[in-house]
Amino acid sequence: MTKYEGYLVDLDGTTYRGKERIPEAEVFIRHLLDVGFPFKLVTNNATKTVEEIVHNLNSYYDIPIDSSHVYTSIIALGDYIELHHPGANVYVLGEAALKEQLLDRNFTVDPSKPIDVVVQGLKRDVTYDQLTVAVQAILAGAEYVVTNTDRLIPTETGMNPSSGAITAFIQFATRKEPIIIGKPNKPIMEGALKQLGIDKSKVLMIGDNYDTDIMAGMNMDMDTLLVLTGVTVREDLELIQKQPTYIIESLSEWKHE
Ligand SMILES: [Mg+2]
Repeated sequence: MTKYEGYLVDLDGTTYRGKERIPEAEVFIRHLLDVGFPFKLVTNNATKTVEEIVHNLNSYYDIPIDSSHVYTSIIALGDYIELHHPGANVYVLGEAALKEQLLDRNFTVDPSKPIDVVVQGLKRDVTYDQLTVAVQAILAGAEYVVTNTDRLIPTETGMNPSSGAITAFIQFATRKEPIIIGKPNKPIMEGALKQLGIDKSKVLMIGDNYDTDIMAGMNMDMDTLLVLTGVTVREDLELIQKQPTYIIESLSEWKHE
């Protein structure tokens, strides 16, 4: 019997690997569903809506979860703003998925009114004028919040600058540090734990990336399970002082029950 009452589980590298399936992970998730064990799939990906993620997992992988099982950095962002800036007017510098999912939250997104919070993600068609709006708002006292700080995105034509490069531009101009929502930072973990409704001492953080997933768990003083199906490889761990609570090759090794 596991001593945990809930799990937070990473998506890419843990539940699947890009377009490649991880059968052991699919069996693991289906078992959790069968026995009704509480869990949330937690992802930094801010370019997909929850509906898109659910559709993807249902259609291309044997993972019959629903939207209640998914917690993204976009939801975390909305929860963070509602908690810390209720009723705020928000300027969104980001793409469709980010904008869409912030529209039905309890704050306004009206560029013609004074801005309380600047939200920034990756925006591939960003303009100098939009950057200026963000910079001026932050200089005037708006809080600056970003989904993640990825530097680069791999594409068919090479590495493209990612969300963090736009953050660097705004940070340089304003000299202001953003609040970062995604793993390894706390906001996404606090939000996911709150939705799970279980004390963090009884929740295990499961992921493939030491720098994001495992650090996120450690930053919350949670137990962590590193699964070696993704980014972090065993050799990486030789240089690391603070080891995950558990390390396994694949999720079939984890004795859930
Ligand atoms: Mg991952």
